[in-house]
Order: sequence, then C-alpha cells, then structure tokens
Amino acid sequence: MTEREATIPPQHRLTRRGRSGRALGSLLAVALLLLLVRGRGLARLLPHAAVGVPVAARGVVVLSGAAGTVAPPLAASPTPDPASLVVPSTTAALPPNELGLIPILMYHTFLPASGSDWNRTPAAFRGDLEYLYAHGYYLTSMHQFVAGTLDIPPGKSPVILTFDDGAESQFRYLLRPDGTIAIDPDSAVGILEDMVARHPDFGHAGVFYVPPGLPFGDDDDKHDQRRFAGTKLAWLVAHGYELGNHTLHHANLANATDAQVRQEIAGGEDGLHRYVPGAPLETFALPYGAYPDHGDPTLLRHCTYQGHTYGYSAVLLVGAEAAPSPFDRRRDLFFTPRIRATDAELGKWFGEYLDRYPAVRYVSDGDPGIVTIPTTLTPALRDKLAPAQLGGRRLVRYGP
Ligand SMILES: [Zn+2]
Repeated sequence: MTEREATIPPQHRLTRRGRSGRALGSLLAVALLLLLVRGRGLARLLPHAAVGVPVAARGVVVLSGAAGTVAPPLAASPTPDPASLVVPSTTAALPPNELGLIPILMYHTFLPASGSDWNRTPAAFRGDLEYLYAHGYYLTSMHQFVAGTLDIPPGKSPVILTFDDGAESQFRYLLRPDGTIAIDPDSAVGILEDMVARHPDFGHAGVFYVPPGLPFGDDDDKHDQRRFAGTKLAWLVAHGYELGNHTLHHANLANATDAQVRQEIAGGEDGLHRYVPGAPLETFALPYGAYPDHGDPTLLRHCTYQGHTYGYSAVLLVGAEAAPSPFDRRRDLFFTPRIRATDAELGKWFGEYLDRYPAVRYVSDGDPGIVTIPTTLTPALRDKLAPAQLGGRRLVRYGP
C-alpha cells in the first residue's frame, strides 16, 4: 500500500434505505456486545493509541471533517494490551462506499496454547468473530469477492475468512459414546457455526485451502479423525463453505520447474476431488505466499496436466494488507493480499485503520447491481475507481 492516509468525509445516512431510525438501537446493541466480548480476541487488541494518542503526535496532518482526523500511516504496529479499552463501534450509520478496502483474514491452527504466529486460540477466534460482528462486518464468500457480486446488507462491510493447510483444529469431530459424531465446538468450524447460529445477520462463509494428503487430520491420528476426511470436506461444501487449492504437497513453488508447478496444481485439485467430486475449487492459495521465481507465470491461471485443464480466478498471497475493492484499479486477483490473523496484524488493520478511519472501508449499499461510492473520497481511495471494472453495474455517486 502506498497511500495510507484517509480523511473522513461528511456523514451521509442511509435514509433512503431506512437505516437511520435504527441507529440508536444498533448503538446500544453494539455497546452491550462489546461489553460481552471485552478481553477476548480482537476486542482485547484495540490499543490505547486508538483514542489516546493525538493525531498530531503521529506526524500526520489534521484535516477538517466529521471526525477531524487523518488516518496515520500503517508503519507501526499497535501495542497489544490485554486489558485494553474498547473502541466504540463505527457502524451506527456508515455510509456506503463500494470502493473501500476488504479485509481477507488468514488463519491456520486453533490450538489452546498460543505461541505461534500461525496459531489462533479458540478463545481469540471467538473474540475475533464477536468483534467483526459488532463492528459491522459480514462474512462473505471468496466467490462473491472474485466475481464482484458482493451481496451483503446495506451498511455492512465484507470480511472473508480463509483457513489454510487443513489442520485438524480447523475441523474436528467428537466421537460420542453412542457412536455418533458432533463437530467439536472448540474447532474453528464449531466456533463459526455457533457464531452464525446466534447471529443469522452475520453472514455464513469461509474458504478452506486444503492439501489433500490428510485433510483435517494429524499424522499420529491421535483423535481418530483420518477416517472423516471425506465427510468433513463434503459437509463444508454442503453447508456453503468453499474449498480452494493449496497444492498437492504444500509445496514451496519458488524454485519449482513448470512441470513441478503443473504437478502440484493438478495433484492438489485432483486429490480434493477424490473426496468431493466436482466441488468448485475457484481460487488458489500459494503455500508460503511463494510464486514461482521463473518459468511460465501464467500456470496458476490456467494449465494442463496429463490432458486435464486447471484454472483459478484468483491467487492468494500470505501478506499483508487489506484487499482492494472489485472496482479499484489496483485490484489484481492474481496477487490478492491477506491479513495474517495475529494480535499485531489484526490490531493494526482493524483497531488502527479500518475501524478508526471507516472511510477506507468497503461499505455495501445493499444492491449488487449498483456500485455506490461517495463523491468525496478519502485520499487512500481517491482516483482509484476503474470504470472498466464496473462490469455493467450502475455507478451511483453521492455527496457534496
Ligand atoms: Zn499453507
């Protein structure tokens, strides 16, 4: 990201969609939720700096505007504070802005003991989801992001959850004494399902990038999960989740030959299809975020292997920022960035940026056929609209 400054334009309520009358109720509900989630996950990351440090002290210019501030550069990570304050929700009356940024979060394991950048404890993941819900985010599919058909309620912001590597802690079954199975409520899928059951207005989506070797199982198979690999993959597809290719062997493609790249792509896809024949695998997550250094750069978009063709509409990286809107000229789906779900990165991107300066957020107008953006855009988004990417949708601009 080159521009990280943002002004907050004059507020425009969504009166034409009848939102404003619900503002107070929403605010109270959100305040209650924030009290409930305080001290967990994302909610506990929000730094004192979010409200405590004068903007001038950060070396940025203060402009006039509704909130009178300019977003700071994102160079510094906030200091996580376990007992931190809670930033008030920004969602009471967010005006639509479909040119704003979209966070795509990257998760790996969900083990109770923390200690790795690749692990999110179940408690922290619950906190993340509560935070996202309270701040007006809506679980959105990768398919809609790729297609530009973001079909979410007015005033909500899309967030996409991605889960790499097919770790057992993402999706574990508990075996009951009577022989039946139940989704472990402390696995990521269990936590997600509980959250969306309690909040049907949170959306219901997530995409799993699974190497086919041992989907959602461990080598030692201590929890007797290996036999459920196919059941789990089929369950995900049947319940609206998405699957994606993550190569056959979780291969680092940096030094791979074209032949090896083809083999890894084909093996990753064919391997999953042995469990779930015909399941759509629309996108590809690069292991380690490593693109092949040499060879044919188009293989991830389209290639053939042993007479079969493989192709993906997006390639996901490992880092490290929010993704541009489908209508932003900076969008390149073959270099789609993600935000790593760690305390530092989540605190930086949500507490310090998207929720502190909501004018940079993608906010839906509720109609996938219309692209609504403010006339006065925050500097981070100014001149970023690509009319050629509207794809026949009607553009509506509003404001002074
Ligand atoms: Zn991976």
